[in-house]
Formats: sequence, structure tokens, C-alpha cells
Amino acid sequence: MKSHHYDYDLVIIGGGPVGMALALALSGSDVSVLLLEARGLPAKTEDPRPLALSHGTRLILQRLDVWEGLPHVTPITTIHISNRGGFGRTILTATETGVPALGYVMNHHDLFRAMHKALNNSAVDCLTGAQVTRLETHAGAGKVEFEHDGVTKKATARLLAVADGGRLIAQIEGVTQHVQDYQQWAVVARVGTERFAETAGTLSAKISSAGSGHGAGFPAAARSTGRRRAHTPPGVAYERFTSDGPVALLPSGKHFSLVWTVSPSAAEELLALDDAAFLARLHGHFGDRLGKFVEAGKRSGFPLALKYVTPVTACRVVLVGNAAQTLHPVAGQGFNLGLRDAWELADEIIASPIDVGTPAMLARYRDRRRMDSGVGRMFTDSLVRLFSNEDPVLDSARSLGLGALDCLPPAKRFVARRMMFGARG
Ligand SMILES: Cc1cc2nc3c(=O)[nH]c(=O)nc-3n(C[C@H](O)[C@H](O)[C@H](O)COP(=O)(O)OP(=O)(O)OC[C@H]3O[C@@H](n4cnc5c(N)ncnc54)[C@H](O)[C@@H]3O)c2cc1C
Repeated sequence: MKSHHYDYDLVIIGGGPVGMALALALSGSDVSVLLLEARGLPAKTEDPRPLALSHGTRLILQRLDVWEGLPHVTPITTIHISNRGGFGRTILTATETGVPALGYVMNHHDLFRAMHKALNNSAVDCLTGAQVTRLETHAGAGKVEFEHDGVTKKATARLLAVADGGRLIAQIEGVTQHVQDYQQWAVVARVGTERFAETAGTLSAKISSAGSGHGAGFPAAARSTGRRRAHTPPGVAYERFTSDGPVALLPSGKHFSLVWTVSPSAAEELLALDDAAFLARLHGHFGDRLGKFVEAGKRSGFPLALKYVTPVTACRVVLVGNAAQTLHPVAGQGFNLGLRDAWELADEIIASPIDVGTPAMLARYRDRRRMDSGVGRMFTDSLVRLFSNEDPVLDSARSLGLGALDCLPPAKRFVARRMMFGARG
């Protein structure tokens, strides 16, 4: 690629996990693809957020040859959902749902690197350090201008797939972005808990080497409870709803990945605490189900908002992933949904390469995605609204709802399958 003007069937703007998935799904097809990613060395990108991926996502990543390259994947065998201060709770299990796992937990950067490696081994043209600055379209083609190696370059294509997380939306004519700021942040960190550590064998090894029963080999934080503890089996994810927002603990090896939703001011405060104070606050908030929290990694914060565009296509343009819809992480749906955007777009393109970017093809794609993305968005938004407030009537309804769900196996299977495979279950 020596010229400064490229011509392709498809230009993908943004090489995040969704943009890369689209490129991978099209590699080996007859469609020529150029992917432009602003970041310089994606293989070294650090992103601490944990991702809970559905069983359906695993199946797609296997077909993209990414799954086998993922280094640390923890299967979720059970999801325990509860309401702080209420009696209701529900437990979803993989066995009841008839799948090997309800989901899988990994780090965002591990997924990112595995996808980038797969992309490097594919035939797709990919430029990193290529920041798109301008985008324009006309009936026959889309054009982008981007900075690369200190030079302004151009590319034209029959279709521009915008997978940039939503940064270029203002330049796309005919689409409207809707934004609902939740006034919440997610504080994420890797944490260790007393009971899980026991099950995983780390603390019990200390007990037996000390040879004096409970307590002798425990760190001070664990020893102080001084009572018999129930063990926590591996693979259990906890989602606890509180009036401040949900807190999730996702199993991650011998630890948990914490996603703690709080107000912006509380996030600022939590991010400034030292380890001991942070762990004590978390224990006070989450409760005693897992015993004390005994270990905390680096904390990071993410502002949370619902953002989505209508329609998700424009002249010679399609938006996918977070560019099309950015969701609250409460239900762990964002990437799962974005991956299905990429997969179904690739399917539409491969089914009729001659049609790439035509109004008819874009209308078919819109129709295919309408229900899945609409339901995913409404489901997630309803969870945030229903569970993040202090209304006592709603609080009772939440507890009753969780309790009732627990008694109805078909309803539980319905919820679990929607979380795993999207609106079509
Ligand atoms: C705390 C937290 C927890 C989450 N947990 C889950 C979960 O459990 N399960 C789940 O499914 N989802 C989860 N998500 C959501 C998930 O992280 C996102 O949906 C997913 O990362 C979106 O990927 P994307 O590729 O669409 O966008 P992004 O990850 O935003 O990638 C966009 C890419 O485009 C590039 N780019 C931007 N502008 C330009 C430009 N002008 N030119 C070229 N390149 C550009 C960027 O560098 C970036 O690489 C979570 C999110 C958060 C914040």
C-alpha cells in the first residue's frame, strides 16, 4: 500500500473488538476490507474492564479463530442475583439451562490482543496509528480522510462501517444520537474474598501447614470473623442490586472481577481510597455472603450512559458495536450485542457482495438487527431504572420478582437464554 489513496469494498473505522470481529468475519471472503485503528500498538493496549461473554459469543469467537487464543477464561456456572435489604433472590445455573456455562469472564485487553493477533494472521489490510478525521458520503461511495505516519491519507469504499465507539457520529448525516446520562460510574478492580480464597485452596493450604485448625494461617482480615464459614464454589457470579446501583462480582481465576456502580462523587472518593479502606467499604456495601474482601488490585472508573443512534445506517454508512449502542454494563450485554452486529453484517455482505452499501442491503441489515438491539437496550435500561432507586414499593416488587423468578424454571431458562443469545434466544 504505497499510494496515499486506497479503494476498497469496505472500510472499517475503529479496530476495537467489534471492528476487528467484523474484519475477521470477512477475511477469506471476496470482499476487500481495510481496517483503520487510531491507536498505535493495539497489541499492548491495557484495559482493566472485565467482560462477561455469553455462550453465543463463545460460538462466534470460535468461528473467528479467536477463542482458542484467549489466555485466561473463567466459565460462569451459576449466577446469583439478589436485592440488598430484600428477601428475594434468584439463582440461574448452566445445568438447568442446558449449556456448559452461562458465560465466560475475561479481561477486555486479553480479548483485544487475541483478536489483534488473529487479525495479523488474516489477509485483511489493517492500519494502526490511523486516525480518521473526516468522513463524507455520496450515493455511490463513502470517503474517509485519516492521519497516518504524519501524512494525511484518503480511502474510498462502497461501504463505511463505523466501529469507533461513537466518536465520529456528528459527521454522519441523517443519524441522530440519543444520550441518557445515568449519573453513575463503574468502579472496576480485581478483588479477593475470604471464602473464595479458601475454596480455591490458597488459604486452606496455610491452615494445614500451620496445623492448628481455623484461623492460624489466615491473614488478619480473614481471621477476625472467627466463625465457621460456608465455602463458595468456583464459577459463581454475583449480581447484587442496591439503591445506589448494581454491584457485580464475576469469577476470574482465584479472584473476582468487581464492577461496582456508584454516583460520580462516590466513584471519585472510592478511587482515592487505599486498599484497606476500599476493601472495608466494599464489604459494608456487598454484605457478608463471601466473607471479608482480603485483596484489591488497581481500581479504574468508567462513566456510564445509554447512547444509541437512529437509524443505525445512513448513505453508504453502517454503525456497529458501541457506535450504534453503548449500554450500561449491568447485564453484561454491550460487547455481546456488538459482536452480533458484526457477525450479522458480515453475513449480509457475504450473502450478496454485489450489493455492498446499497440502500437495499442497508435496509435488510437494519431489519435484521432491530429486534436484538432494541430488546438488549430496553432490557438493560429497565434493569438500571428498576433496580437503582430507593422507592419502597419498587423495592418490594424487586424482591417479589426475584423470588417468583426463582420458583419458575421455564422463566429462568427464558431469561438465561436471552442473556446468552440475545432477543431471539
Ligand atoms: C465497566 C464496563 C464493563 C463492561 N462489561 C461488559 C460485559 O461484561 N460484557 C459485555 O458484553 N460488554 C461489557 N462492556 C461493554 C464493552 O466493553 C463494549 O461494548 C465494547 O468494548 C465495545 O467495543 P467496540 O469495538 O464497539 O468499541 P470500542 O471498544 O470503543 O472501540 C472503538 C475503537 O475505535 C478506535 N477509534 C476511535 N475513534 C477512531 C477514529 N477516529 N479513527 C480510527 N479509530 C478510531 C478506538 O481507538 C477503539 O479502538 C462493559 C463496559 C464497561 C465500561
